[in-house]
Amino acid sequence: MFETLSDRLNGVFEKFSGQKTLNEENVQAGLREVRLALLEADVNFKVVKEFIARVGEKCLGQDVLKGVDPAQQVIKIVHDELVDLLGGDTTELDLAGAKPAVVMMVGLQGSGKTTSSAKLANLLRKQNKKPFLVPADVYRPAAIDQLHTLAKQLGIPAYQSTPDMNPVDIASAALDEAKEQGYDVVLIDTAGRLHIDEQLMEELATIKGNVSPQEILFVADAMTGQDAVTVAESFNEQLEISGVVLTKMDGDARGGAALSIKSVTGKSVKFVGMGEKLSEMEIFHPDRIAGRILGMGDVLTLVEKAQAEVSEKEAEEMARKMQKAEFDFEDFRTQMRRMKKIGSLDSILKMIPGMGALKNKLGDLNVPDSELNRVEAIINSMTNQERRNPQLINQSRKERIAKGCGLKLKDVNDLIKSFTQMRQMMKQMMGGGKGKKGKFPKL
Ligand code: GDP
Repeated sequence: MFETLSDRLNGVFEKFSGQKTLNEENVQAGLREVRLALLEADVNFKVVKEFIARVGEKCLGQDVLKGVDPAQQVIKIVHDELVDLLGGDTTELDLAGAKPAVVMMVGLQGSGKTTSSAKLANLLRKQNKKPFLVPADVYRPAAIDQLHTLAKQLGIPAYQSTPDMNPVDIASAALDEAKEQGYDVVLIDTAGRLHIDEQLMEELATIKGNVSPQEILFVADAMTGQDAVTVAESFNEQLEISGVVLTKMDGDARGGAALSIKSVTGKSVKFVGMGEKLSEMEIFHPDRIAGRILGMGDVLTLVEKAQAEVSEKEAEEMARKMQKAEFDFEDFRTQMRRMKKIGSLDSILKMIPGMGALKNKLGDLNVPDSELNRVEAIINSMTNQERRNPQLINQSRKERIAKGCGLKLKDVNDLIKSFTQMRQMMKQMMGGGKGKKGKFPKL
């Protein structure tokens, strides 16, 4: 997310470090580069112009503190302006005032509406709400089946619509059912089209009139940059959207949509899609995103994600096992599954301050899912006893395991070797060995 923009901006800041003051000359030179970086990131031309004017004014204005490093001052000013551009404060869903509350998901075909509906239901359930999914996209082939499958996967109830039904009828009937069943939030996955057309807008307006939604979320594919902003404007004019979900922010979207949509439409991004998995949706926090753009990391989001997956007690138990080299294949498998849920190693590293830059030096650290799946297949082929006591795994057991998962003996050997090394390393790092004590207390 925002990698090129991030690199370019950091390049500008580096030039400021080592300079004694901020003056007309170095500020203008820096701003020219910031302007180019934003335009290259596909940020709306007008938005860039205003942004640069505001940053310039602050850099040369009285806000600038004497005795503070100019580079730090510029970073702070750009950071604050980026936060503003991204929408200022975090904007949450406003679902008060109706039970059930209704959320309409709108947008073009392929923007990620169906996936985002399921992701949002998943998020709401984590907040102790009872969501009800309503597949009403009767135009895209298989969209209804897709949402039914996702709902089943999550164990979240869904309205049993079929492609021969009318979307307006589906929405009204689903709302009645939700009232009867006592659900808190109804999420309607409305029909998209390849392009905006009048019939689509009329249909959506009729649904809006019938179900009086608390929220109309426009779902946009971040990879489409300024096109996403133009389409958002048009949906906003006709339906008055209440917020935006930006999907595919895990891809190589340059950031233009995220950085322009609020200024252009006046509506905030409320959620971002960070991958195809149903857990990969985040609440959009402008300050944290600005931090990520400027390479400051986003530890808060990382901590929240980890907290959602691990309890404190579990974390302590894991630390104890690491210290005593009791960490076994069962624990390894649990951690691996958890990591798959939290996101790729790559995406985790980017949220740690300073790691963004380090990652660039190290190159691509992404462990592909296929590799994780192979490792998991080997561990799955072990017996419970072997998982708990890896030292039991002798030659004949290794051969049996390789056969069981359909991989080569060498694969099993490699895994056991790396695992043994890792266990030793953990023990040393956690202070269980002779070396220095780690920061976890010995239990
Ligand atoms: P719809 O036509 O708007 O309902 O679009 P879908 O929900 O079917 O999404 C279109 C494609 O985009 C699917 O292949 C999704 O898996 C993918 N997709 C949706 N959101 C994301 C996201 O945040 N990241 C990535 N990488 N893919 C996504």
